Amino acid sequence: MEKLHEECGIFGIIADRPINAAGHAAAALLSLQHRGQQSAGIVAFDGGKMIVKKDLGLVTDIFGQDFLDSCAFTHTAAGHVRYSAARENGINTTSNLSVNAQPITVSHKCAAFSLSHNGSLTNAAHLRQKIAEKGGVFYTTNDSEIVAVLIVEQCLKTHDLEKAVFNVMDAVEGAFSIIVGTEDKLVAARDKNGFRPLCMGRLNGATVFASESCALDCIGAEFVRDIAAGELVSADKSGQIITLQKDLKGVKRGLCVFEYVYFARPDSFIDGISVHAARMEMGRLLFRQKPTNADMVCGVPDSGISAAYGYAEESGIPYGSAFIKNRYVGRTFIAPTQPKREQMVGSKLSPLKASILGKRIVLVDDSIVRGTTSANIIKALRVAGAKEVHMRISSPPFKYPCYFGTDVDSRENLIANHYTVDEICRKIGADSLVYLPYKDLMNIKFGRDVGFCGGCFDGKYPIKIIH
Ligand code: AMP
Repeated sequence: MEKLHEECGIFGIIADRPINAAGHAAAALLSLQHRGQQSAGIVAFDGGKMIVKKDLGLVTDIFGQDFLDSCAFTHTAAGHVRYSAARENGINTTSNLSVNAQPITVSHKCAAFSLSHNGSLTNAAHLRQKIAEKGGVFYTTNDSEIVAVLIVEQCLKTHDLEKAVFNVMDAVEGAFSIIVGTEDKLVAARDKNGFRPLCMGRLNGATVFASESCALDCIGAEFVRDIAAGELVSADKSGQIITLQKDLKGVKRGLCVFEYVYFARPDSFIDGISVHAARMEMGRLLFRQKPTNADMVCGVPDSGISAAYGYAEESGIPYGSAFIKNRYVGRTFIAPTQPKREQMVGSKLSPLKASILGKRIVLVDDSIVRGTTSANIIKALRVAGAKEVHMRISSPPFKYPCYFGTDVDSRENLIANHYTVDEICRKIGADSLVYLPYKDLMNIKFGRDVGFCGGCFDGKYPIKIIH
């Protein structure tokens, strides 16, 4: 089996009174759906019991009106959306996926809690073995259960949830943004490198945590701040906050730059940087890299659009739509076979002939992974009458695996590992192809004190990877 690659979104809310916390969680998870579409879950507390609902599928399918009605009196809830690329024999097995749905729930001597985790641990195999040798049993194959077991161990030693989670932050290596939910508190924590985002907000006295600020906006919560790398923030029902901070001396910051390139929603702000503004800047820099004459700039829906706006603004070439996206087709990227992926790209993006005919087009997308999307849509543009198609990619060539929670195919399938830029250009059928240089991408900080991980582009990671 390949290594698990998790792409997930997490959310939590706690109030001192019944607010249908699970309803807020369902709405927030819907706005985080882009971070994972295979399973979703909510664990809610109503002062008497822990209500758990998780399943395979989309947020709107899982959390129906009956469930939301049954949660009317909940004051605290934590949730999770998940996409895992763990492939057994090339495909995700249903049993494997459903058992791995989160939040994980645990009842132990001191308390019952839920755990929502985004990211992948790099020392998971080692920790799993150590726990197994002591007689521990696992019900899932995901890293997050290891974190849950370690929290229980620490709770038994410290009798203090914050201390327990804070100690576990030293034992686990890699990427983790987590939310631990209990009857009377929510504890949010982010790894020392700050690989994955996590922020905090307020809603009428309730405290809220979420992977992305778009989830706060969606429920009408006010953004308070990002959780810092190496920070733990605990909130109780009354809104009382406790924070603990790890010493970051010698630690390299490693916020995943791919969050800005592709993963996050453009209306989110991560560590003070607007995802949309970052993508616009990528587009501007792309134009400056190789100014090109054309009649129209188009973005590949959805993730190429903000960068295309930036390109259009910088070049003065008008922005236009070249594709209509069928919003009911799911993610092509995760289809198990190449013919299936190609068929899905075809039915997902339809060329807008009236806009394309006779035009020289600059087509902007966020990344080329296998090359399937680019090849198919360039062909479709030509069939629709485009005179020239100049492909512009708002990230560098994608060459290396990610160990921190972004699904990247095995290195053999990454087109940039086999061909030069000119060869890729020919393979995808473009008239020209330009990638955003690595240095340009890593410098998009708008004066903020952040450091990115761009390991998928240069193979250098902020922490040592033990193979
Ligand atoms: P491909 O068709 O394999 O070249 O994939 C490129 C397309 O997939 C781009 O249009 C991206 O928007 C999208 N993409 C890139 N990275 C990922 C990822 N880790 N998970 C899902 N989709 C991705």
